[in-house]
Amino acid sequence: MVAIVYDVIREEEKMLIKAAERMGIQLRFVKVGEAMDINGWEPDVYLIRTLSHNKGIIAAAVVEGNGGISVNSSVAIATSWNKAVSLAKLKRAGLPIPKTTVLFGETDIEIRKRSIVKTVSGSWGRKVALVSTPEELKLLLRSAEGEVLMLQEMIGTGEDIRIFVVGDRAVAAMRRIPPEGDWRSNAARGGKTLPQDIDGELEELAIKAAKAVGAFYAGVDILIGDRLYVNEVNGIPEFKALTKTTGVDIASHIVQMLLELKKR
Ligand code: ADP
Ligand code: ZN
Ligand code: MG
Repeated sequence: MVAIVYDVIREEEKMLIKAAERMGIQLRFVKVGEAMDINGWEPDVYLIRTLSHNKGIIAAAVVEGNGGISVNSSVAIATSWNKAVSLAKLKRAGLPIPKTTVLFGETDIEIRKRSIVKTVSGSWGRKVALVSTPEELKLLLRSAEGEVLMLQEMIGTGEDIRIFVVGDRAVAAMRRIPPEGDWRSNAARGGKTLPQDIDGELEELAIKAAKAVGAFYAGVDILIGDRLYVNEVNGIPEFKALTKTTGVDIASHIVQMLLELKKR
């Protein structure tokens, strides 16, 4: 049996249950509640699907500590959850990334054109801002409350491509167009989504990006400028919108991957 580690059940987990049922397989569900025992986890294959990345990193480490296989690994989830760490790994893998400066505190930094400011951890486009002046940046730094920020060159209009990698394959992709008046393309923000063909370049970028953070499976975001840039790698990726947009049965690809890991 393979297990799903969760805190809240999302659409994705329901899709995984259905995919497993269609394949005649039962999944074991492990809830991360208020307390977690570090001992006594049966060595097995565990898919980490927690909404909380912090819980996910810890659960993955506990799985590994008990001799099991965690998908993704604790290191991959921790790496992908920190955008600055991820970008450094992507850079090391030779992938194109936006020009980025990590900001640990208030600093006088020049802003020549509209730039993106984001926290190193965050999702759904919630902690991403557009700044045009040093004053705006100062204000963000002052209200950062200890969070590490990044200043990043703006690539294109914010439109991007989400590619889903499972194992060594890119299984589905969509183009995400920000809603009117916004530059953030997140499905959670109501951007428009269109199916996207996966050509050789996209496939190679996505697979290398997932590998760079050590992920078995991942949602890779690619920005579109004068060329393509890898923006982030999601280590506990959602796939509801991508499934709906492309019709690709992503859940089945994931269950298949878990079964293959189980055989090892
Ligand atoms: P999150 O983890 O919250 O999704 P992202 O870094 O992916 O954070 O940013 C959210 C959205 O903001 C992206 O999907 C993209 O549309 C836009 N965005 C982020 N960084 C840039 C950038 N450097 N240039 C242009 N648009 C960006
Ligand atoms: Zn993200
Ligand atoms: Mg994103």
